[in-house]
Formats: sequence, C-alpha cells, structure tokens
Amino acid sequence: MILTNVLALKDNYIWILYDKNNSCIIVDPGESNLVIKTIIQKKLNPQAILITHYHRDHVDGVKNIVKKYPKIIVFGPKKEKNYSIHQIVKGGDKIHLLENDIDVISTPGHTLNHISYYLKPYFFCGDTMFSAGCGRVFQDNYLSMYYSIQLINSFPDDTILCCSHEYTLSNLIFSMNFLPEDNNLKHYYRKVQKKIFLKKNIFPFYLYNEKKINIFLRTDDFILKKMMGFKKNKDSFEIFCYLRKNKDLFGAKRD
Ligand SMILES: [Zn+2]
Repeated sequence: MILTNVLALKDNYIWILYDKNNSCIIVDPGESNLVIKTIIQKKLNPQAILITHYHRDHVDGVKNIVKKYPKIIVFGPKKEKNYSIHQIVKGGDKIHLLENDIDVISTPGHTLNHISYYLKPYFFCGDTMFSAGCGRVFQDNYLSMYYSIQLINSFPDDTILCCSHEYTLSNLIFSMNFLPEDNNLKHYYRKVQKKIFLKKNIFPFYLYNEKKINIFLRTDDFILKKMMGFKKNKDSFEIFCYLRKNKDLFGAKRD
C-alpha cells in the first residue's frame, strides 16, 4: 500500500492511498484539480472517496472527481447538511476497499458526526488531530473531542496519523508557551522548520512521536500541569479544555 498526499488550498492535506494494482481511495478532497492531476500522473484507478466531515475544505472537490470518474463510491458520515453522498457510514462499520477492511471510527468533537478511517497503520483522522495539535471544537463538544483524542492515543505506537491540515509549526509555538524547556518540542520544532525551509514533506506523523510532542495527548502530564500553574491532581479533561480554548485565541487557524 502506498500513501501520497496533495497539499491543496491553503494548508489542506488530501490523502491518496493506492495498492499494487493502482486502485486508489481519496480522503477529504477539498479541491479536485491537483487530485485529478496526481491520479493521471500516477495512472491510478479511483475506487472511492472517504469523507470525515462536511466542511467545504474537505468536500469541495468531490463533485468534479465523481464527474470525471463516475464509478467512484463516496462514503461519509451522517449528513449534517444537504450534501449528496452514496453511502453513509458510522463508527463500527467496515468498508471493504483495496482488498482490505477499513474500520470506520467515530471521532466526534470537531463536528458532531465526525468520523475517521483506519487501515493499519494509516489513521485518517480529518480535523480531529494535527501534528502537535488537535482540531477546533465546534458546537461545544469538548467532552466528545477529549474522548476522541484519548481513543486515538490508545492506538498502536506505529500508527501513522493522516491529518487534514499542516499546522505543525504554529501548534509547536503554541505548545512551547507552556513548555519552553521541553527538549522533544524544541528538537521537533527545529526538524520541522528545516524541512519546511527545504520544501520537504514533513510527513509521516507517527503516533509514538505525537505522544511526546502533542500537548493534547499529554493532558495528564505532571510537568505540563505544573508549568500551566495547576496542581498535579487537576483533571485531565479540564487541562484539555483550557488548552483548546487558549488555542482558539492563538493565531487565526480556523480548524
Ligand atoms: Zn473541519
């Protein structure tokens, strides 16, 4: 299985996963031109589009891709808007594609019906998690988002997170406000900065690394609590809410 990404719009990752027969699936196409260009270049045969949620930067490319490849099947969660897909899926479902079962995982928080897709080791988490950060919480779903993040944290260390935005540097700068002396954060910041300067892809995002550098996965961390001025028995969920609400005020990232 080979994974590639298209960096589209301002900072969106659109994921394309293909097998030895060049059959492919596309995750969250927020635009179509670059996706179709990649499909043609790599001589791929698109089987399906997987949607995590219905924000425009995740679905605006669907219509044109389906027009170009009419046999494609579009999977997505329960509709939050009047949006046309072929098959609604929910947490616990399995989708058989690319000669594999893909697990559909319920990850509410960013939106009420947000779902993720897991085909070991790839975890397509939409706007639930980003490298060194997590998605914005809409509709006041903080507890749902917290549990979705905990669920992702319980996956194997070698899981590869396929998130939908490139916010890594901004997330790390935010995190270093709380943990200015954290060597893992400092090291990862330098590494990412260098790759961006050299115009290299920052990917892959391994979960074992996120466990070290993503403060939203470290809300039970004694040092983080101390640096934030909280006692060590402060509830992990309250830490999560505090961090996420502060992140909303930090920079202008929408998701
Ligand atoms: Zn979104």
